[in-house]
Amino acid sequence: MKISGGKVFDLAKGFVERDVCFDGALLTPDSRDEKTYDASGCWVIPGLTDVHFHGCRGADLSDADPEGLQTMAEYELSRGVTQICPAGMTLLEDRLMEVCRTAAAHRRKNRPGADLVGVNLEGPFLSLAKKGAQNGDWLHAPDAAMLRRLMEAAEGLVKLVSVAPEEPGALDFIREASEEVGVSVAHTTADYDTAVEAFRAGARQVTHLFNAMPGFTHRAPGVVGAALDSPWSRVELISDGVHIHPAVVRATFKMFGPDRVVLISDTMRAAGMTDGKYDLGGQEVTVKGPLATLADGTIAGSVTDLMACMRNAVSFGIPLADAVRAAAVNPAQAVGVFDRVGSLEPGKRANVVVLDRDLGVKAVFFKGRQVV
Ligand SMILES: [Zn+2]
Repeated sequence: MKISGGKVFDLAKGFVERDVCFDGALLTPDSRDEKTYDASGCWVIPGLTDVHFHGCRGADLSDADPEGLQTMAEYELSRGVTQICPAGMTLLEDRLMEVCRTAAAHRRKNRPGADLVGVNLEGPFLSLAKKGAQNGDWLHAPDAAMLRRLMEAAEGLVKLVSVAPEEPGALDFIREASEEVGVSVAHTTADYDTAVEAFRAGARQVTHLFNAMPGFTHRAPGVVGAALDSPWSRVELISDGVHIHPAVVRATFKMFGPDRVVLISDTMRAAGMTDGKYDLGGQEVTVKGPLATLADGTIAGSVTDLMACMRNAVSFGIPLADAVRAAAVNPAQAVGVFDRVGSLEPGKRANVVVLDRDLGVKAVFFKGRQVV
């Protein structure tokens, strides 16, 4: 099979005109059969990886519901997100254990839909003062033993864990946890010095940069400044047009460069649904257009899927090649699957998305099979 005539995402050159060939589930240097998909006038990009979203289509990872997770995997695949690493909210340990077991069972059964490549534990090791839409009653001091129990329940699927580095025991937690999972600085009041220490201790990501943390100001650069000074770190960015002003999206790409920005959707269960009232981690959220808020007005996740976030980033002035890098390459690296997916090199999975001129999803190939 070959996809021909399109402009193809290339790691080194941005976009090039070439064929994308595959044989079965894997990309190949050329194609043996005659089957061709005509992508003239289209963009051909790798399937995206969303490393931070909670739910969609009425389902949420935190429900610990196998059918819900299945719904999420199928919806994301239909949007061109071929790998998912959904995020749990702040919940009690028992519930998080169920979430982890449900994810592990889903993966073991090899069910259809986007590939479940990880679980992201956004809670519970966060700061009460910056809890955002997390449930404050269920927050917990950073606890490496709890994380180990959760990792065991998830059968190794936990790939990211968030932590507020100013919480008691957080630095020891980061040292221990970062041996096995990606530690992300999140929901925090940390100043610059504390955040620098967190990155030195092994943290390598920031959860939704700018959201739920002090700002970046001239005498108090905070987590943002610390991440800038820690070049091994990546920063998540929600480019739904609600969480972050377009000028800040542009500034972030300029400051961090396109290799360090990880676009995330942070969607909750209302993504792909109509306006109304929904639950997020035990709290009621009202959804109107692109805005999801708690009763007090706190922004509570997004309803804009990752492909739409990528399209937004382009509409804000980010070059398409940089936006694709931030939605396909960098997130795959962040959860350790870039050796298999995230670019269109021969040998990788044939997870390929064809976008029309307006960046709408025209076709999705998943493991070599056209699913959209
Ligand atoms: Zn959050």
